[in-house]
Amino acid sequence: MAFHSVEGLLTAAKDLPLWQAVQADDCNDSNTPPQASWARMSALWAAMGAAQADYDPDRRSTSGLVGGDGARLEGEDPGLCGAFFRQVISAALKAGECNACMRRVVAAPTAGSSGVLPAALIPLQRRDGFPDEIMVQALYVAAGFGQVIAARASIAGAEGGCQAEVGSASAMAAAALVFLKGGTAEQMAHGCALALANTLGLVCDPVGGLVEVPCVSRNVMGAVNALSCAEMALSGVKSVIPCDEVIDAMGAVGSALPSSLRETGQGGLAATPTGRRLAESLGE
Ligand code: SF4
Repeated sequence: MAFHSVEGLLTAAKDLPLWQAVQADDCNDSNTPPQASWARMSALWAAMGAAQADYDPDRRSTSGLVGGDGARLEGEDPGLCGAFFRQVISAALKAGECNACMRRVVAAPTAGSSGVLPAALIPLQRRDGFPDEIMVQALYVAAGFGQVIAARASIAGAEGGCQAEVGSASAMAAAALVFLKGGTAEQMAHGCALALANTLGLVCDPVGGLVEVPCVSRNVMGAVNALSCAEMALSGVKSVIPCDEVIDAMGAVGSALPSSLRETGQGGLAATPTGRRLAESLGE
């Protein structure tokens, strides 16, 4: 039985680590042994890394609007944000561009938001030296919170706007980051709640209906937001609104959004003069 509340997830995590509660649930749900569940999650982690390794700055999306930006933040220059944050931004851009260029990505929770988790996790692993085993555990944590968001609200831009895609990915990543840095299950829930609350109301407005603009750079926002919210949660900052209520609010906001702001390419940036002109030139 999948988790339908963060409260339920936290209760299940009283007797065993939260990641293990999620894995046990996955095994029950899919009637598979723990080794098979672990192998599946390990394959997802490997695929996230492979997408980064496969990045080619010369590649462009079919529309030509996206490509090459991930490489702009590579190198030793600390820039404005420092080396680590630049690696996070670069990784998010690379993953988003891979998706736009039809390369293999891990939908987490969707293809459009597939850059958030790898961007939040891969540079941290590189910096802090976490073994792959711990990173896979972090993916279970992310999956557990994502499962609740999917059950109570939505993870589809067409249903709930970009808050449901990039917002959910950011919330999942925040929980995973709290786990990696030794936070409690309650802190993971606070990180998740803070990250989702910060993206409430984010609309889905892909220019020309393509998952390119603003999708790729929104993944950067999702990753950076996840890091900030995990940092807050680990420092003892709490979400005033409980995580389940934040998720419910996201669902309600999504339902209230007009269809023009739910992946139809008719509102927001897609409806700007430039957005319309690009859509026309792309044969929309
Ligand atoms: S703007 Fe829409 S299509 Fe693009 S990432 Fe967000 S939800 Fe997905």
